[in-house]
Amino acid sequence: MVKMFEDLYSDLPYPINCFLNQVSDYIIINLDKKLNIIGFNKNFLDITQLEKEEIIKLKLNEVFTGETIGYSELKKIKNYKRFELSLTKKISTSYSYLNFTCYIFSLKENGFYLFGQKNNLKQEDVINKISKLNNQLSNATRELNKKNFHLQEANKKIKELARTDELTGLSNYRHFIEYTDRVISYSQRHLFPLSLIICDFDKFKNINDSYGHDVGDEVLKAFGQLLIAESRKGDMAARIGGEEFAIVLNGASLENGINYAERIRKKTVNLEVPSLSQKLTVSMGITELRNSDDYNTFFKRADLALYKAKENGRNQVCSQ
Ligand code: GH3
Ligand code: MG
Ligand code: MG
Repeated sequence: MVKMFEDLYSDLPYPINCFLNQVSDYIIINLDKKLNIIGFNKNFLDITQLEKEEIIKLKLNEVFTGETIGYSELKKIKNYKRFELSLTKKISTSYSYLNFTCYIFSLKENGFYLFGQKNNLKQEDVINKISKLNNQLSNATRELNKKNFHLQEANKKIKELARTDELTGLSNYRHFIEYTDRVISYSQRHLFPLSLIICDFDKFKNINDSYGHDVGDEVLKAFGQLLIAESRKGDMAARIGGEEFAIVLNGASLENGINYAERIRKKTVNLEVPSLSQKLTVSMGITELRNSDDYNTFFKRADLALYKAKENGRNQVCSQ
């Protein structure tokens, strides 16, 4: 004889029977001492979608998975025990994911009663897990961004160092070549004027000989500062040799370039360097880019102009 839920309630002692009226979403199963299902409520029937007669032939552990519910274990239950159980695939594939928190009461003469409430925890767990993962992910992303930022900064620094002359802070020879090559193509394509100045200190060997190499270095540094101070946006100043410098003047015609070079030349004469008690002079060669030029022809012409300036007596600007 299959006992349905109303019977189950009436079998149960007060106040459990009263309480059960309030919890219609509970599954209730009555088990005999051998753990055969001998009764259940409608909710259990609805969830398993089985026929009453089918259920009655099953044992508890044929319906549920989860913690093992063995006879020896159940015998030890004095009052009740809490279990986490899942409906097995044996019963219904579609409900196999359902999870219940169950309490099994040992009622001696009535065998056992199992009360199970469907856990919504699964969904909550998933949500919690997702939000935890999201947090972890955003923390990791933040860390990664921070590291990327530092990496980019370090890369920038490395790049900057790789193209900077240590003594003067100007561009080095390598960067000068790369930059000049680039602006030559750009200026030719857009028909922009471009001028190149090459400077070389006059009798620099004498400076070193008279004041020492350190003072010579200070002169080079001071000249570097002068070029930085006199550079406009788009100009590029580089140290291309021991006491040789180059300035690329974007958008400058030969005439503009000569004016600029003259300004530098005059300011060099007044350059103040501690421990140095003599005037400094530079010779400068300048040329303007032609359409037929490449880096080599452009540079050679400026160098030729410098040679002319040296030949003509130094401390002057010559063009070619
Ligand atoms: P000129 O007018 O013909 O150019 O004469 P110069 O003495 O300047 O020419 P030269 O090429 O004979 O000598 C350049 C000198 O520059 C020789 C070298 O000792 C010095 N020099 C090159 N690099 C450095 C440097 O980094 N620091 C210092 N202090 N001196 C340097
Ligand atoms: Mg030289
Ligand atoms: Mg020199």
